[in-house]
Amino acid sequence: GPELTGPYAQEIKQNLKGIFALDKFRPNQFEAIDATMAGRDVFVLMPTGGGKSLCYQLPAVCRSGKTKGVTVVVSPLLALMHDQVNGLRAKNVDAVLLTSNTRDEEAQEIRSRLYSNSKPTLLYVTPERLKVSTNLKNMLSHLYRGQELARFVIDEAHCISTWGQDFREAYQELHTLRDDFPDVPIMALTATADRKTIDDIMHRLQLRTPAVFQQSFNRTNLNYNVKPKRSVDEMVAFIKQSHRNETGIIYRTGRDKCEKLAAQLRQKGLSAKHYHAKLDPTDKETVQAEWQSGECQIIVATIAFGMGIDKPDVRFVIHFDLPKNMDGHVIFPYYQETGRAGRDGLPADCVLYYAYRDLQPILKMIRDSRDPNTTKASIERQEQAVRAVVQYCENESVCRRIQILQHFGEKFDKKDCRGRCNNCASEGLLVTQDFTNEAKSVLTLVQSLEHGKENVTVDHCRNIFKGANVSAVRDKRHDHHPNFGAGRDMPKELVELLFNKLLYLDALMELSTQTNSKWHQQYLKLGSCAHEFLAGRRTLQLSYRPKTPK
Ligand code: ADP
Ligand code: ZN
Repeated sequence: GPELTGPYAQEIKQNLKGIFALDKFRPNQFEAIDATMAGRDVFVLMPTGGGKSLCYQLPAVCRSGKTKGVTVVVSPLLALMHDQVNGLRAKNVDAVLLTSNTRDEEAQEIRSRLYSNSKPTLLYVTPERLKVSTNLKNMLSHLYRGQELARFVIDEAHCISTWGQDFREAYQELHTLRDDFPDVPIMALTATADRKTIDDIMHRLQLRTPAVFQQSFNRTNLNYNVKPKRSVDEMVAFIKQSHRNETGIIYRTGRDKCEKLAAQLRQKGLSAKHYHAKLDPTDKETVQAEWQSGECQIIVATIAFGMGIDKPDVRFVIHFDLPKNMDGHVIFPYYQETGRAGRDGLPADCVLYYAYRDLQPILKMIRDSRDPNTTKASIERQEQAVRAVVQYCENESVCRRIQILQHFGEKFDKKDCRGRCNNCASEGLLVTQDFTNEAKSVLTLVQSLEHGKENVTVDHCRNIFKGANVSAVRDKRHDHHPNFGAGRDMPKELVELLFNKLLYLDALMELSTQTNSKWHQQYLKLGSCAHEFLAGRRTLQLSYRPKTPK
């Protein structure tokens, strides 16, 4: 690799080998360490498993930097802090941990050590402790006056941002660090950040022209795949075929669904347990321990499972429901959840089982939210986020990595995917076909219904187009409509794709109507671009892989 230079390089390299027993740095680690030792504010963006902790553990043990003394690490993850402190002690690094659970005697001992000449090298604290403990604040002020505060490290820095899903009340207080200790450099680290969140973090922590290190979010060893969701049996077959006796996580969006699916998997001979927020704490620990040890192969969990999980050999992460998230982000949490696979760098599968029918209940839940803070804008933001996932699932022509990484503002070259997503892998099978006539036919159908002042749902309209023999269509005499059955020859998936594409292009839109105080019904109307298609000024191509018959 390139020569590591600079005033601190010697000591940094020595400690990498001597203390951390590592041969070489991963991308950006050395640069981030060098920048914090030079006294700069630093912002590190690295995917989970990328090696963030070395970025602050290593400079903490160095003596040649601009600032000296104790490195204070703030992290929200108790279990992770315990692990790190134990790991450091095993390397003979003097690290202590102060949380809201720390016993008084122990806290007292840490305090007297900080006032003495045998100060610890790293002080790990929870944001809650930092917020409420005046003792701790006095101690930090004492260190500051003696120029014994080397740096503040804010791990999981996205928790400070209200944009993120992991917002933590106590993290908000961290903005006072800059006011109270203006000369102490800050290092913020996170694995989850889009442009908006990054700016928000920097602003809230009052970082001063920070050195920003952003590693590619591409996880080369992960295989991204979207499959049609048909049955549990198909998923079981996939697991048995590709991951027999290997460890995996299956994410579901409801507690009942987790329990039910885990039971189904056991019935089919797989070792599986469920995990969700309502499990009592001892059960949670047991399930997690059994999974961690490999005694239990598969965990079926809600997103409650995962924060702080560090099992290196997870070979598959399956999303069996359309991922959802109530904060207006979906692709980020999806990326983070899949990121728990393959942390050892070996190949792992991320499979999303997609069915368009999963969308409606989510939209309904968003609209029916009883949260008093819900505004029209927040509902729209959430809906948009869910639709972005639908887009991701239905877009079979663009490399999945390109689609995911664009949400991180990262440009990705398709050739670097090396066929490790199902779109690249089946590129040759992709068919692009013109559906302009079919599009027009759908739009004239919607137009004529609109003229007749008839409110119909997407489902209903799709049924007319397909020529479905269902009572809802017959009852409204829509089986006599001239466009009834116009799409009779199109496979079901393709009709869905056509309607979704028209919605996406704003040729169609769904209009919410309040039919009583809390129930919103979605009606299909022409969108702002419909006339371009109707006037013959625009064509419509669909790319899809013809489904192999089951
Ligand atoms: P993160 O906090 O970014 O999720 P960690 O700091 O926990 O990641 O590191 C993940 C794994 O990578 C750990 O097992 C760590 O020992 C290893 N690691 C970090 N840096 C290096 C390196 N330069 N060389 C080899 N392994 C590394
Ligand atoms: Zn690809």
